[in-house]
Amino acid sequence: MNTYGRFPITVTKGKGSYVWDDKGTKYLDFTSGIATCNLGHVPEFVKNALVNQLDQLWHVSNLYHIEPQQKLAKQLTKVTSFDQVFFCNSGAEANEAAIKLVRAKANSENKQPLIVTFKKSFHGRTLATLTATGQEKIQTGFSPLVEGFHYLPFNDEDALEKLNEWQPTAVMLELVQGEGGVVPAHKTWIKKLVEICKKNNSLIVVDEVQTGIGRTGTLFAYQQYDLEPDIMTIAKGLGSGFPIGAMLAKEHVSYLFGPGSHGSTFGGNPLATTAGLSTIQYILNNELLTTISDRSKQLTLLLQKIASQYDFIEEVRGKGLLIGLKLNREIASTVVLESIKNELLILTAGPDVIRLLPPLTVSEEEILLFVEKFEKALKAAKEC
Ligand SMILES: *Cc1c(COP(=O)(O)O)cnc(C)c1O
Repeated sequence: MNTYGRFPITVTKGKGSYVWDDKGTKYLDFTSGIATCNLGHVPEFVKNALVNQLDQLWHVSNLYHIEPQQKLAKQLTKVTSFDQVFFCNSGAEANEAAIKLVRAKANSENKQPLIVTFKKSFHGRTLATLTATGQEKIQTGFSPLVEGFHYLPFNDEDALEKLNEWQPTAVMLELVQGEGGVVPAHKTWIKKLVEICKKNNSLIVVDEVQTGIGRTGTLFAYQQYDLEPDIMTIAKGLGSGFPIGAMLAKEHVSYLFGPGSHGSTFGGNPLATTAGLSTIQYILNNELLTTISDRSKQLTLLLQKIASQYDFIEEVRGKGLLIGLKLNREIASTVVLESIKNELLILTAGPDVIRLLPPLTVSEEEILLFVEKFEKALKAAKEC
């Protein structure tokens, strides 16, 4: 169905930071499949693990134990503050699972479930997750929405007082709003949010579908905040491009899911969890997290220099290698189109924000090549 406004190229091959179209043209890819191919395209380490698994077992029901699934759950709980993992196939499904778990908590206490989310957030396209998403353009045309959601403005400390009035079961948020414009949460705002949630016994759910798997410079973004969430959802980068999602929770909530509470035919599939396990292993074994911070500094400095030369660029913002350029004109998509002409792929996050998501393995030289192509695109967009 015609659910995407597609750009006029067909991508047929990828390797590292580059993709090729069906005519053989090579593009520098600063989208990484929207924060999915975090290790670049077709990373050897993950490919070898997948090829090996292809020879062993493709699928078996969750009615049986699955080895790579158990290994990935062990690995994820070892490197985070969570105790248990539920596997699914996408970000929206991970958030659905989180919403169900939050409701299970309210139900177990005979309370009315209420989840507070934030304006300009993005949590997915299923009915519950589009309701959680604080953007009218995502919700319009799909009423009736799901019950039990309230919204507050992001990064607004005074607005948090509402939480005392509403006493929600949970608060759900992104630590850098991705689709909503690449907006990092302020540390002081998170501190206040945590205090209020603790006082009211509200759960904290972080949606790390976009920010997770090294994207912001730590394995997960919450690790840069004074914050121990009760629930975390991940997906995008977890499988290096292979579809997989997961909902992680602390034991004091995860126990509410027992046999029959929730399920997924493909969730935790041997191939998907092999991709997930090898992706995490690669990141942890290769000091990638230190390099991300160096590349982030390099790219941010170069972008700030560029921003000072173009009056339509207002701000460079983001975390790690999730970077946004806020424009004071709604020409983000023009810049994207001009970039394609210069064999560079980039993204928008709304009409006035350019979003850059290079692979976490991007080299210094590739960042310099990006700057060369991006400046040409900006010059052309300026004339439009
Ligand atoms: C992409 C995204 C989702 C939805 O993930 P899908 O895999 O497309 O369902 C949810 N939350 C955030 C923060 C995202 O960036």
